Amino acid sequence: MPISEVTIHTEPPPDYVALPLAKPFSKAAGPITKGKVLDMYTKAVDRLRAVVQKLNDNTLTETDLGHATAFFAGASDLSSVKAQLELTLDGLVNNQITVHVGGAMPYVKRLTWPDWINFPMNVLNHPVQSIRYFIHEATHLYADAKDTGLGGKKGYINNDGNFREAGITAEEALVNADSLACFVTRVFGDNLV
Ligand SMILES: [Zn+2]
Repeated sequence: MPISEVTIHTEPPPDYVALPLAKPFSKAAGPITKGKVLDMYTKAVDRLRAVVQKLNDNTLTETDLGHATAFFAGASDLSSVKAQLELTLDGLVNNQITVHVGGAMPYVKRLTWPDWINFPMNVLNHPVQSIRYFIHEATHLYADAKDTGLGGKKGYINNDGNFREAGITAEEALVNADSLACFVTRVFGDNLV
């Protein structure tokens, strides 16, 4: 199983500048938390596989193409989307991943902790948002996707499917982590709420 470790915070995450080249102090998570993480992981991989398959086979429906237009700001060439989703899927399947449960926000620190995703319990407990944000973080780790725009705000998508801040360009949206994650979520058939 590619999830090698599920840990839980015993203290707030350290400040970025204070980070040593090691993971923050943690203890092993209990079986319920591990089960939730494994379920989230499995569903994220299933969804990525299904959507990559659709992109490979060119079988996106009109509705799917509508999601692409919305989340990629009108971009019509989805070849880079396919490439990034394939990298994300490969990364999730072929690496030993540590999921660190705790804190207030999902995040990764790719250069410091490869194959490590921090995930808050409240998001982990949500049946759809957990998968959406797990894919979001995995695109940062394995496809070098960004939170585009100043402060990252321009790239985040509300649960009604609209960008929190207007004005994202197609070029930015095509490499935007939340665009990729919401596209996978909606094309698979999950609602964002
Ligand atoms: Zn992000």
